[in-house]
Amino acid sequence: MKTAVVLAGHGSHISPETAGVVWAQVDALRRLHAADEVTAAFWKEQPSFHTVFDSLAASDITVVPLFTAQGYFTQTVIPAEMGLTGAVTERNGRTIRYTRTLSEHPYLGQMVRQRVEDALRRLNCRPEQTAVAIVGHSTRRNPESRKATEAQAEAIRQTGLAAEVAAVYLDDTPAVAEVYNLTHAPTLIVVPYFLASGSHTTIDVPRELGLDSHRINEPTVINGRRVYYTPPVGVEAELQTAILELVAEAQADTIRNRLQPPPTSQWDCFPLAALDEVRRMMTHLPFTFGQLRITASDVRHADDDQPNETITTPDALRTRVRENPFRPLATSADLPRGWRVITNGDPYRVLAVVETVYPGVLGSHVSASGSLEALLCRQTGRYRDLRWLHESAYEQVMAQVCGGCVRQPVWAGASDGIRCPEPCDYWLSAALKQVKSDQP
Ligand code: SF4
Repeated sequence: MKTAVVLAGHGSHISPETAGVVWAQVDALRRLHAADEVTAAFWKEQPSFHTVFDSLAASDITVVPLFTAQGYFTQTVIPAEMGLTGAVTERNGRTIRYTRTLSEHPYLGQMVRQRVEDALRRLNCRPEQTAVAIVGHSTRRNPESRKATEAQAEAIRQTGLAAEVAAVYLDDTPAVAEVYNLTHAPTLIVVPYFLASGSHTTIDVPRELGLDSHRINEPTVINGRRVYYTPPVGVEAELQTAILELVAEAQADTIRNRLQPPPTSQWDCFPLAALDEVRRMMTHLPFTFGQLRITASDVRHADDDQPNETITTPDALRTRVRENPFRPLATSADLPRGWRVITNGDPYRVLAVVETVYPGVLGSHVSASGSLEALLCRQTGRYRDLRWLHESAYEQVMAQVCGGCVRQPVWAGASDGIRCPEPCDYWLSAALKQVKSDQP
């Protein structure tokens, strides 16, 4: 029986780090051969929660929600998008296991405590002179969302590491800036209860706190108090162990039994559902897929005759094509040039390279089916407003967004090229902006 692990994260249109912390864990689990196939799925990026299973050949799939709170995304969005009915879902001959949320593992509590202890040491500060604020995201859509942050604040309170402890929120009350009214100790340590150094932790929270955007992790005096803003909680290597423990728990197994002999290459353990399609395409080399040219020896940008950089690892390739500048839509038709990955005609390697550049796209290309209507039926949040999208605005978004993408929206009637089964989050966000701008 083939197994797969899917790490489900939020992703972002603004910052590479939000999904980057998830992809780093995917790379780590692939190196450990934690399953036959390992991949990620996102709300804001590709592959989406809804389409990620199309990429997988495994019959036993374990989904790990990498969120800092049990709430709207883990209880509503992911189950709706993935069609999950509980901890174990049997569907079309597959077993899909849904693990506990990362926030329910002791790891995050340990990291919050470590952040506070590190800050006390760095500032040479005594607990009785210190206040700690835990900043969560939360959402008014689900009252559960704030509970994890409150629990972390209470745990720090119990340790006696600070005289005052408060929980504040980006999207709930009390708001982040309220921390200056809720606490009064001369030193304030602020811990962002987020996994990644994404836009929330590097832009939104620092702005609310009044920190200098160029020195957010330097001690700063604000309102006569010393304020120290720590790194987020999900950037340490131990996160990998927590994920493996959640996977093992869901599979009623032990980590030791799950780990198989290490793969021979960092390009192993990629999603395999499209392997036959890749083999079929490789009977006519060279061929072009999106902006990629697949030759008998390598994969490169389709317009490059002599790329000057040879990339050897998936994380280096992902960084090269995704992060500088950040491309939130992996399939936008502005793929960076100048690189190649040697494949020596190996279809597994070709598949892994294409999957790294265009995550989840091969799987959807093979089994594309979906519609805007079906997608809207699954919505419980702000995208429900898209039912008010006018025809002219729809055409405008199609031209602006899909017009700059290497995929073809079969959900909107396209028939040729790389098939896209349903609107991506990038399209939905653009359409929602249009709806809002059309409202009086
Ligand atoms: S074709 Fe359109 S909806 Fe599909 S991924 Fe591209 S931009 Fe998004």
